[in-house]
Amino acid sequence: MPDVDLFVIGAGSGGVRAARIGAGHGASVMIAEEYRVGGTCAIRGCVPKKLLVYAARFADEFEDAKGYGWTVPEPVFDWPTLIANKDREIARLELAYTTALERAKVAVVKSRAVIVDPHSVRLADGQTVRAKHILIATGAAPSIGKEIEGHSHVISSNEAFHLEELPKRILIQGGGYIAVEFASIFNGLGSEVTLVYRGDNILRGFDDDLRAHLRTEMEKRGIKVITRRIVEGIEKVDRGLCVELSGHDEVIVDRIMFATGRRPNINGLGLEAAGVQLGRTGGIEVDDYSRTSVPNIYAIGDVTDRINLTPVAIRDGHAFADTVFGNRPTKVDHKNVPTAVFSEPECGAIGLTEAEACRKLPKVDIYKTWFRPLKATLAGRDTRTFMKLVVDGTSDRVVGCHIVGPDAGEMIQLVGIAVKMQATKADFDAVMAVHPTAAEELVTMREKAVSHVRQAAE
Ligand SMILES: Cc1cc2nc3c(=O)[nH]c(=O)nc-3n(C[C@H](O)[C@H](O)[C@H](O)COP(=O)(O)OP(=O)(O)OC[C@H]3O[C@@H](n4cnc5c(N)ncnc54)[C@H](O)[C@@H]3O)c2cc1C
Repeated sequence: MPDVDLFVIGAGSGGVRAARIGAGHGASVMIAEEYRVGGTCAIRGCVPKKLLVYAARFADEFEDAKGYGWTVPEPVFDWPTLIANKDREIARLELAYTTALERAKVAVVKSRAVIVDPHSVRLADGQTVRAKHILIATGAAPSIGKEIEGHSHVISSNEAFHLEELPKRILIQGGGYIAVEFASIFNGLGSEVTLVYRGDNILRGFDDDLRAHLRTEMEKRGIKVITRRIVEGIEKVDRGLCVELSGHDEVIVDRIMFATGRRPNINGLGLEAAGVQLGRTGGIEVDDYSRTSVPNIYAIGDVTDRINLTPVAIRDGHAFADTVFGNRPTKVDHKNVPTAVFSEPECGAIGLTEAEACRKLPKVDIYKTWFRPLKATLAGRDTRTFMKLVVDGTSDRVVGCHIVGPDAGEMIQLVGIAVKMQATKADFDAVMAVHPTAAEELVTMREKAVSHVRQAAE
């Protein structure tokens, strides 16, 4: 007889949801967490990051207020206050997650858990728990490499949330969303920021116009973006940390952060002993129902290394619980997932980029616009918003939308409904504009910027 119907390893976004829904379906559930209940998103990801983003954005508000007639005394920012307040909110969230689990009658164990065989899990105190089903929801961790000299000076996003003081100068290596978000945070709070990325441009995988526009806007704000370079070594010198870049450039900074990717948390988890197989990218391989190569072991969220976002992990966890314990087999649709980058300015994106659409579709129509947000006029701020719609030229369906500008994240959530419903460009145009807003541009773009038609021979 198993001790529990379900043992969940990892109390992050996906694991917590799966445990609660599974228990709601009547399963006996135990969940183990080796660090803090809530996982990456709540403890050292989305939530604390967004709080820091809010903090950084006040700098613009103070500045812009002057153009609107306000006299604003020289604002003073205090990093320790921000970090202490943020930590208090995160502790409250952690407690809320734990309470919600306990209310759902889930047994919460604060321990690392390791799989011993397909039906048993060992806790840190040596206790073994027998389980009918095991769910691996262990997430991912920063991967900052190790091969360079002076590596011990490098921090990841984990440490960035707990720095004792705001660095005067920081170098961030990486071009993904975490790198650009932290570059914007530190820039807004007053640090001198250098962003170094080995590729051609930041935000690989996003639409090329979005990438170019964001880079220009970030540079306007004083962030130094250096592409096609990598950090080759770090040396402690009198004036701080001397970072040697490929191409023999040097930068002196106070802090160095690497946001160079995340790897699934699978080390020492006992996957081999249980026979759980990995996929091409090193994440756990699963089928449409989150089942691994071992029939009673499932995996969800970042540890599967597919779309590494909180709402995806939550959906995966919910669908798993409905499938296995709710008698309701549920697949999660991972297509057309809207996403935001909380840089300054913000980005929102869904669906195909222009380049992807051109590869996949015979005819593609592009609508795009750049404009100065109304608020920037009296503020005297030099910034532009960018919007693009990618339209299937054959069916008229909107298959992609890419935005850089204030509230892009909020906008793309709603555009996501239309794209998911397979709305056409004509449907967008039929919607009355809300004036004056930025979002109205999405329903008033009349002129095609370009029409791509693939020739039969291509
Ligand atoms: C800086 C940063 C910002 C982010 N911002 C966003 C954002 O704005 N929007 C968004 O959607 N996503 C964001 N993400 C991604 C998001 O946090 C993850 O996609 C999400 O947390 C994945 O959930 P999960 O359940 O798969 O794993 P996690 O939330 O990582 O939870 C896994 C848990 O398992 C625990 N664990 C690992 N191994 C063991 C073990 N052997 N035994 C017991 N416990 C174990 C870990 O301690 C962790 O608590 C961000 C991530 C980072 C790092």
